[in-house]
Amino acid sequence: MVLFYKGLWYNNSMKKIGLLGATGSIGTQTLTILREFQHLRLSFLSAHRQTDRLSELVAEFRPDFVIVTDPDAYSQVGRLDVPVYGPDDYISAIEQSDADILINAIVGTSGLLPTVKWIEWGRTLALANKESLVSAGELVTNLRQQSGAQIVPIDSEHSAIWQSLQGNDPKSVHKIILTASGGAFRDHTKQEITGLPAKAALKHPNWSMGQKITIDSATLVNKGLEVMEAKWLFDLREDQIEVLIHRESIIHSMVEYVDGAIMAQLGVPDMKLPILYALEHPKRLATSWPKLDWSQIPTLHFEKPDTERFPGLALAYEAMRKGGTMPLVFNVANEVYVEEYLKDKITFYGITDRIAQAMADHEVMQQPSVADLLALEAQLRQQLKETS
Ligand code: NDP
Ligand code: MG
Repeated sequence: MVLFYKGLWYNNSMKKIGLLGATGSIGTQTLTILREFQHLRLSFLSAHRQTDRLSELVAEFRPDFVIVTDPDAYSQVGRLDVPVYGPDDYISAIEQSDADILINAIVGTSGLLPTVKWIEWGRTLALANKESLVSAGELVTNLRQQSGAQIVPIDSEHSAIWQSLQGNDPKSVHKIILTASGGAFRDHTKQEITGLPAKAALKHPNWSMGQKITIDSATLVNKGLEVMEAKWLFDLREDQIEVLIHRESIIHSMVEYVDGAIMAQLGVPDMKLPILYALEHPKRLATSWPKLDWSQIPTLHFEKPDTERFPGLALAYEAMRKGGTMPLVFNVANEVYVEEYLKDKITFYGITDRIAQAMADHEVMQQPSVADLLALEAQLRQQLKETS
């Protein structure tokens, strides 16, 4: 199909998108893109608890069906003009959908099952939900090899790496450098941070995101998850993944090649670009979004991460090294304790102290199955909540 859009012709065929987590930060930005590019159509969308937005979204985007993943919210959802699937039957609904690509923008390990299934079915996954790849990295990678499925990153750092790999031989990568803003507490001392509440950690200097990932940015757990995400996405060893604090969030990440050349992707911090690139690569569509104004950026800063003030990153490397079920434990413990911190029940360092404890208490199982991972997730969530 040929489209004339904002003075340019596009030869784009229609693409159908499945969107899990449509009511969240990534979901909302995806819907903004869908509004702008008419050839991108919604096959289905999911909400968890924010069901009040569903009738509006159905009226506007006319998806084939919608999903409500929270059991209580599902039982209370009113009549909609399209079929509604719940937590027990949505996986078979998405299997039968004609979506060309699934955006998994659910937050947390609840995104694991749709990630695993979509990959098992050999389909294309645009991944925002890093927790699923981190928790089931080896399994997803094996399934991907068997089924021929494709995973394209939405996470801005991984999108930057992916963009910087274009036209180069992946075997000639020496290392990648993941940049990190440093989060809300990057300029505070350890003593100051100890007393700071979640409200302060939610003030991210550069990005506007969901609550959990904003806290994860402050603890550097997010960067730790991204290290593991990069390992699986780009088939890298631990010593090939470096983290660099870059407070302006202009360089979204870099690839260093064996000859010393470094490729990077730069731009304003706006998740719409990686989302659009995930949907359209290798094409680049013209957008009306603000572009980088270099006159406003006199200096770019870089520093090594401080793992004393932010132990989350070192714990993530440890979880990656141990492998098997340990990354899932790291993930679930983080989710449980971020929630406690958000309710002001524990301190900032209570999060990483308790993750370390959960990891120390866990006996690693290598090569877990999906059933093993799902059972462990449920058991841990219960157990950690009870003892926190
Ligand atoms: P939000 O908290 O803004 O949104 C989360 C979405 O997931 C909502 O649609 C929510 O539904 C749904 N949801 C919540 N709990 C569950 C559950 N148990 N089962 C199914 N769905 C659930 O998160 P973000 O959009 O910020 O993040 C989504 C994912 O993208 C995360 O994995 C994050 O790490 C990743 N990411 C986000 C970035 C960002 O800029 N926000 C950047 C890079 C990665 P409801 O609101 O209806 O309850
Ligand atoms: Mg990121």
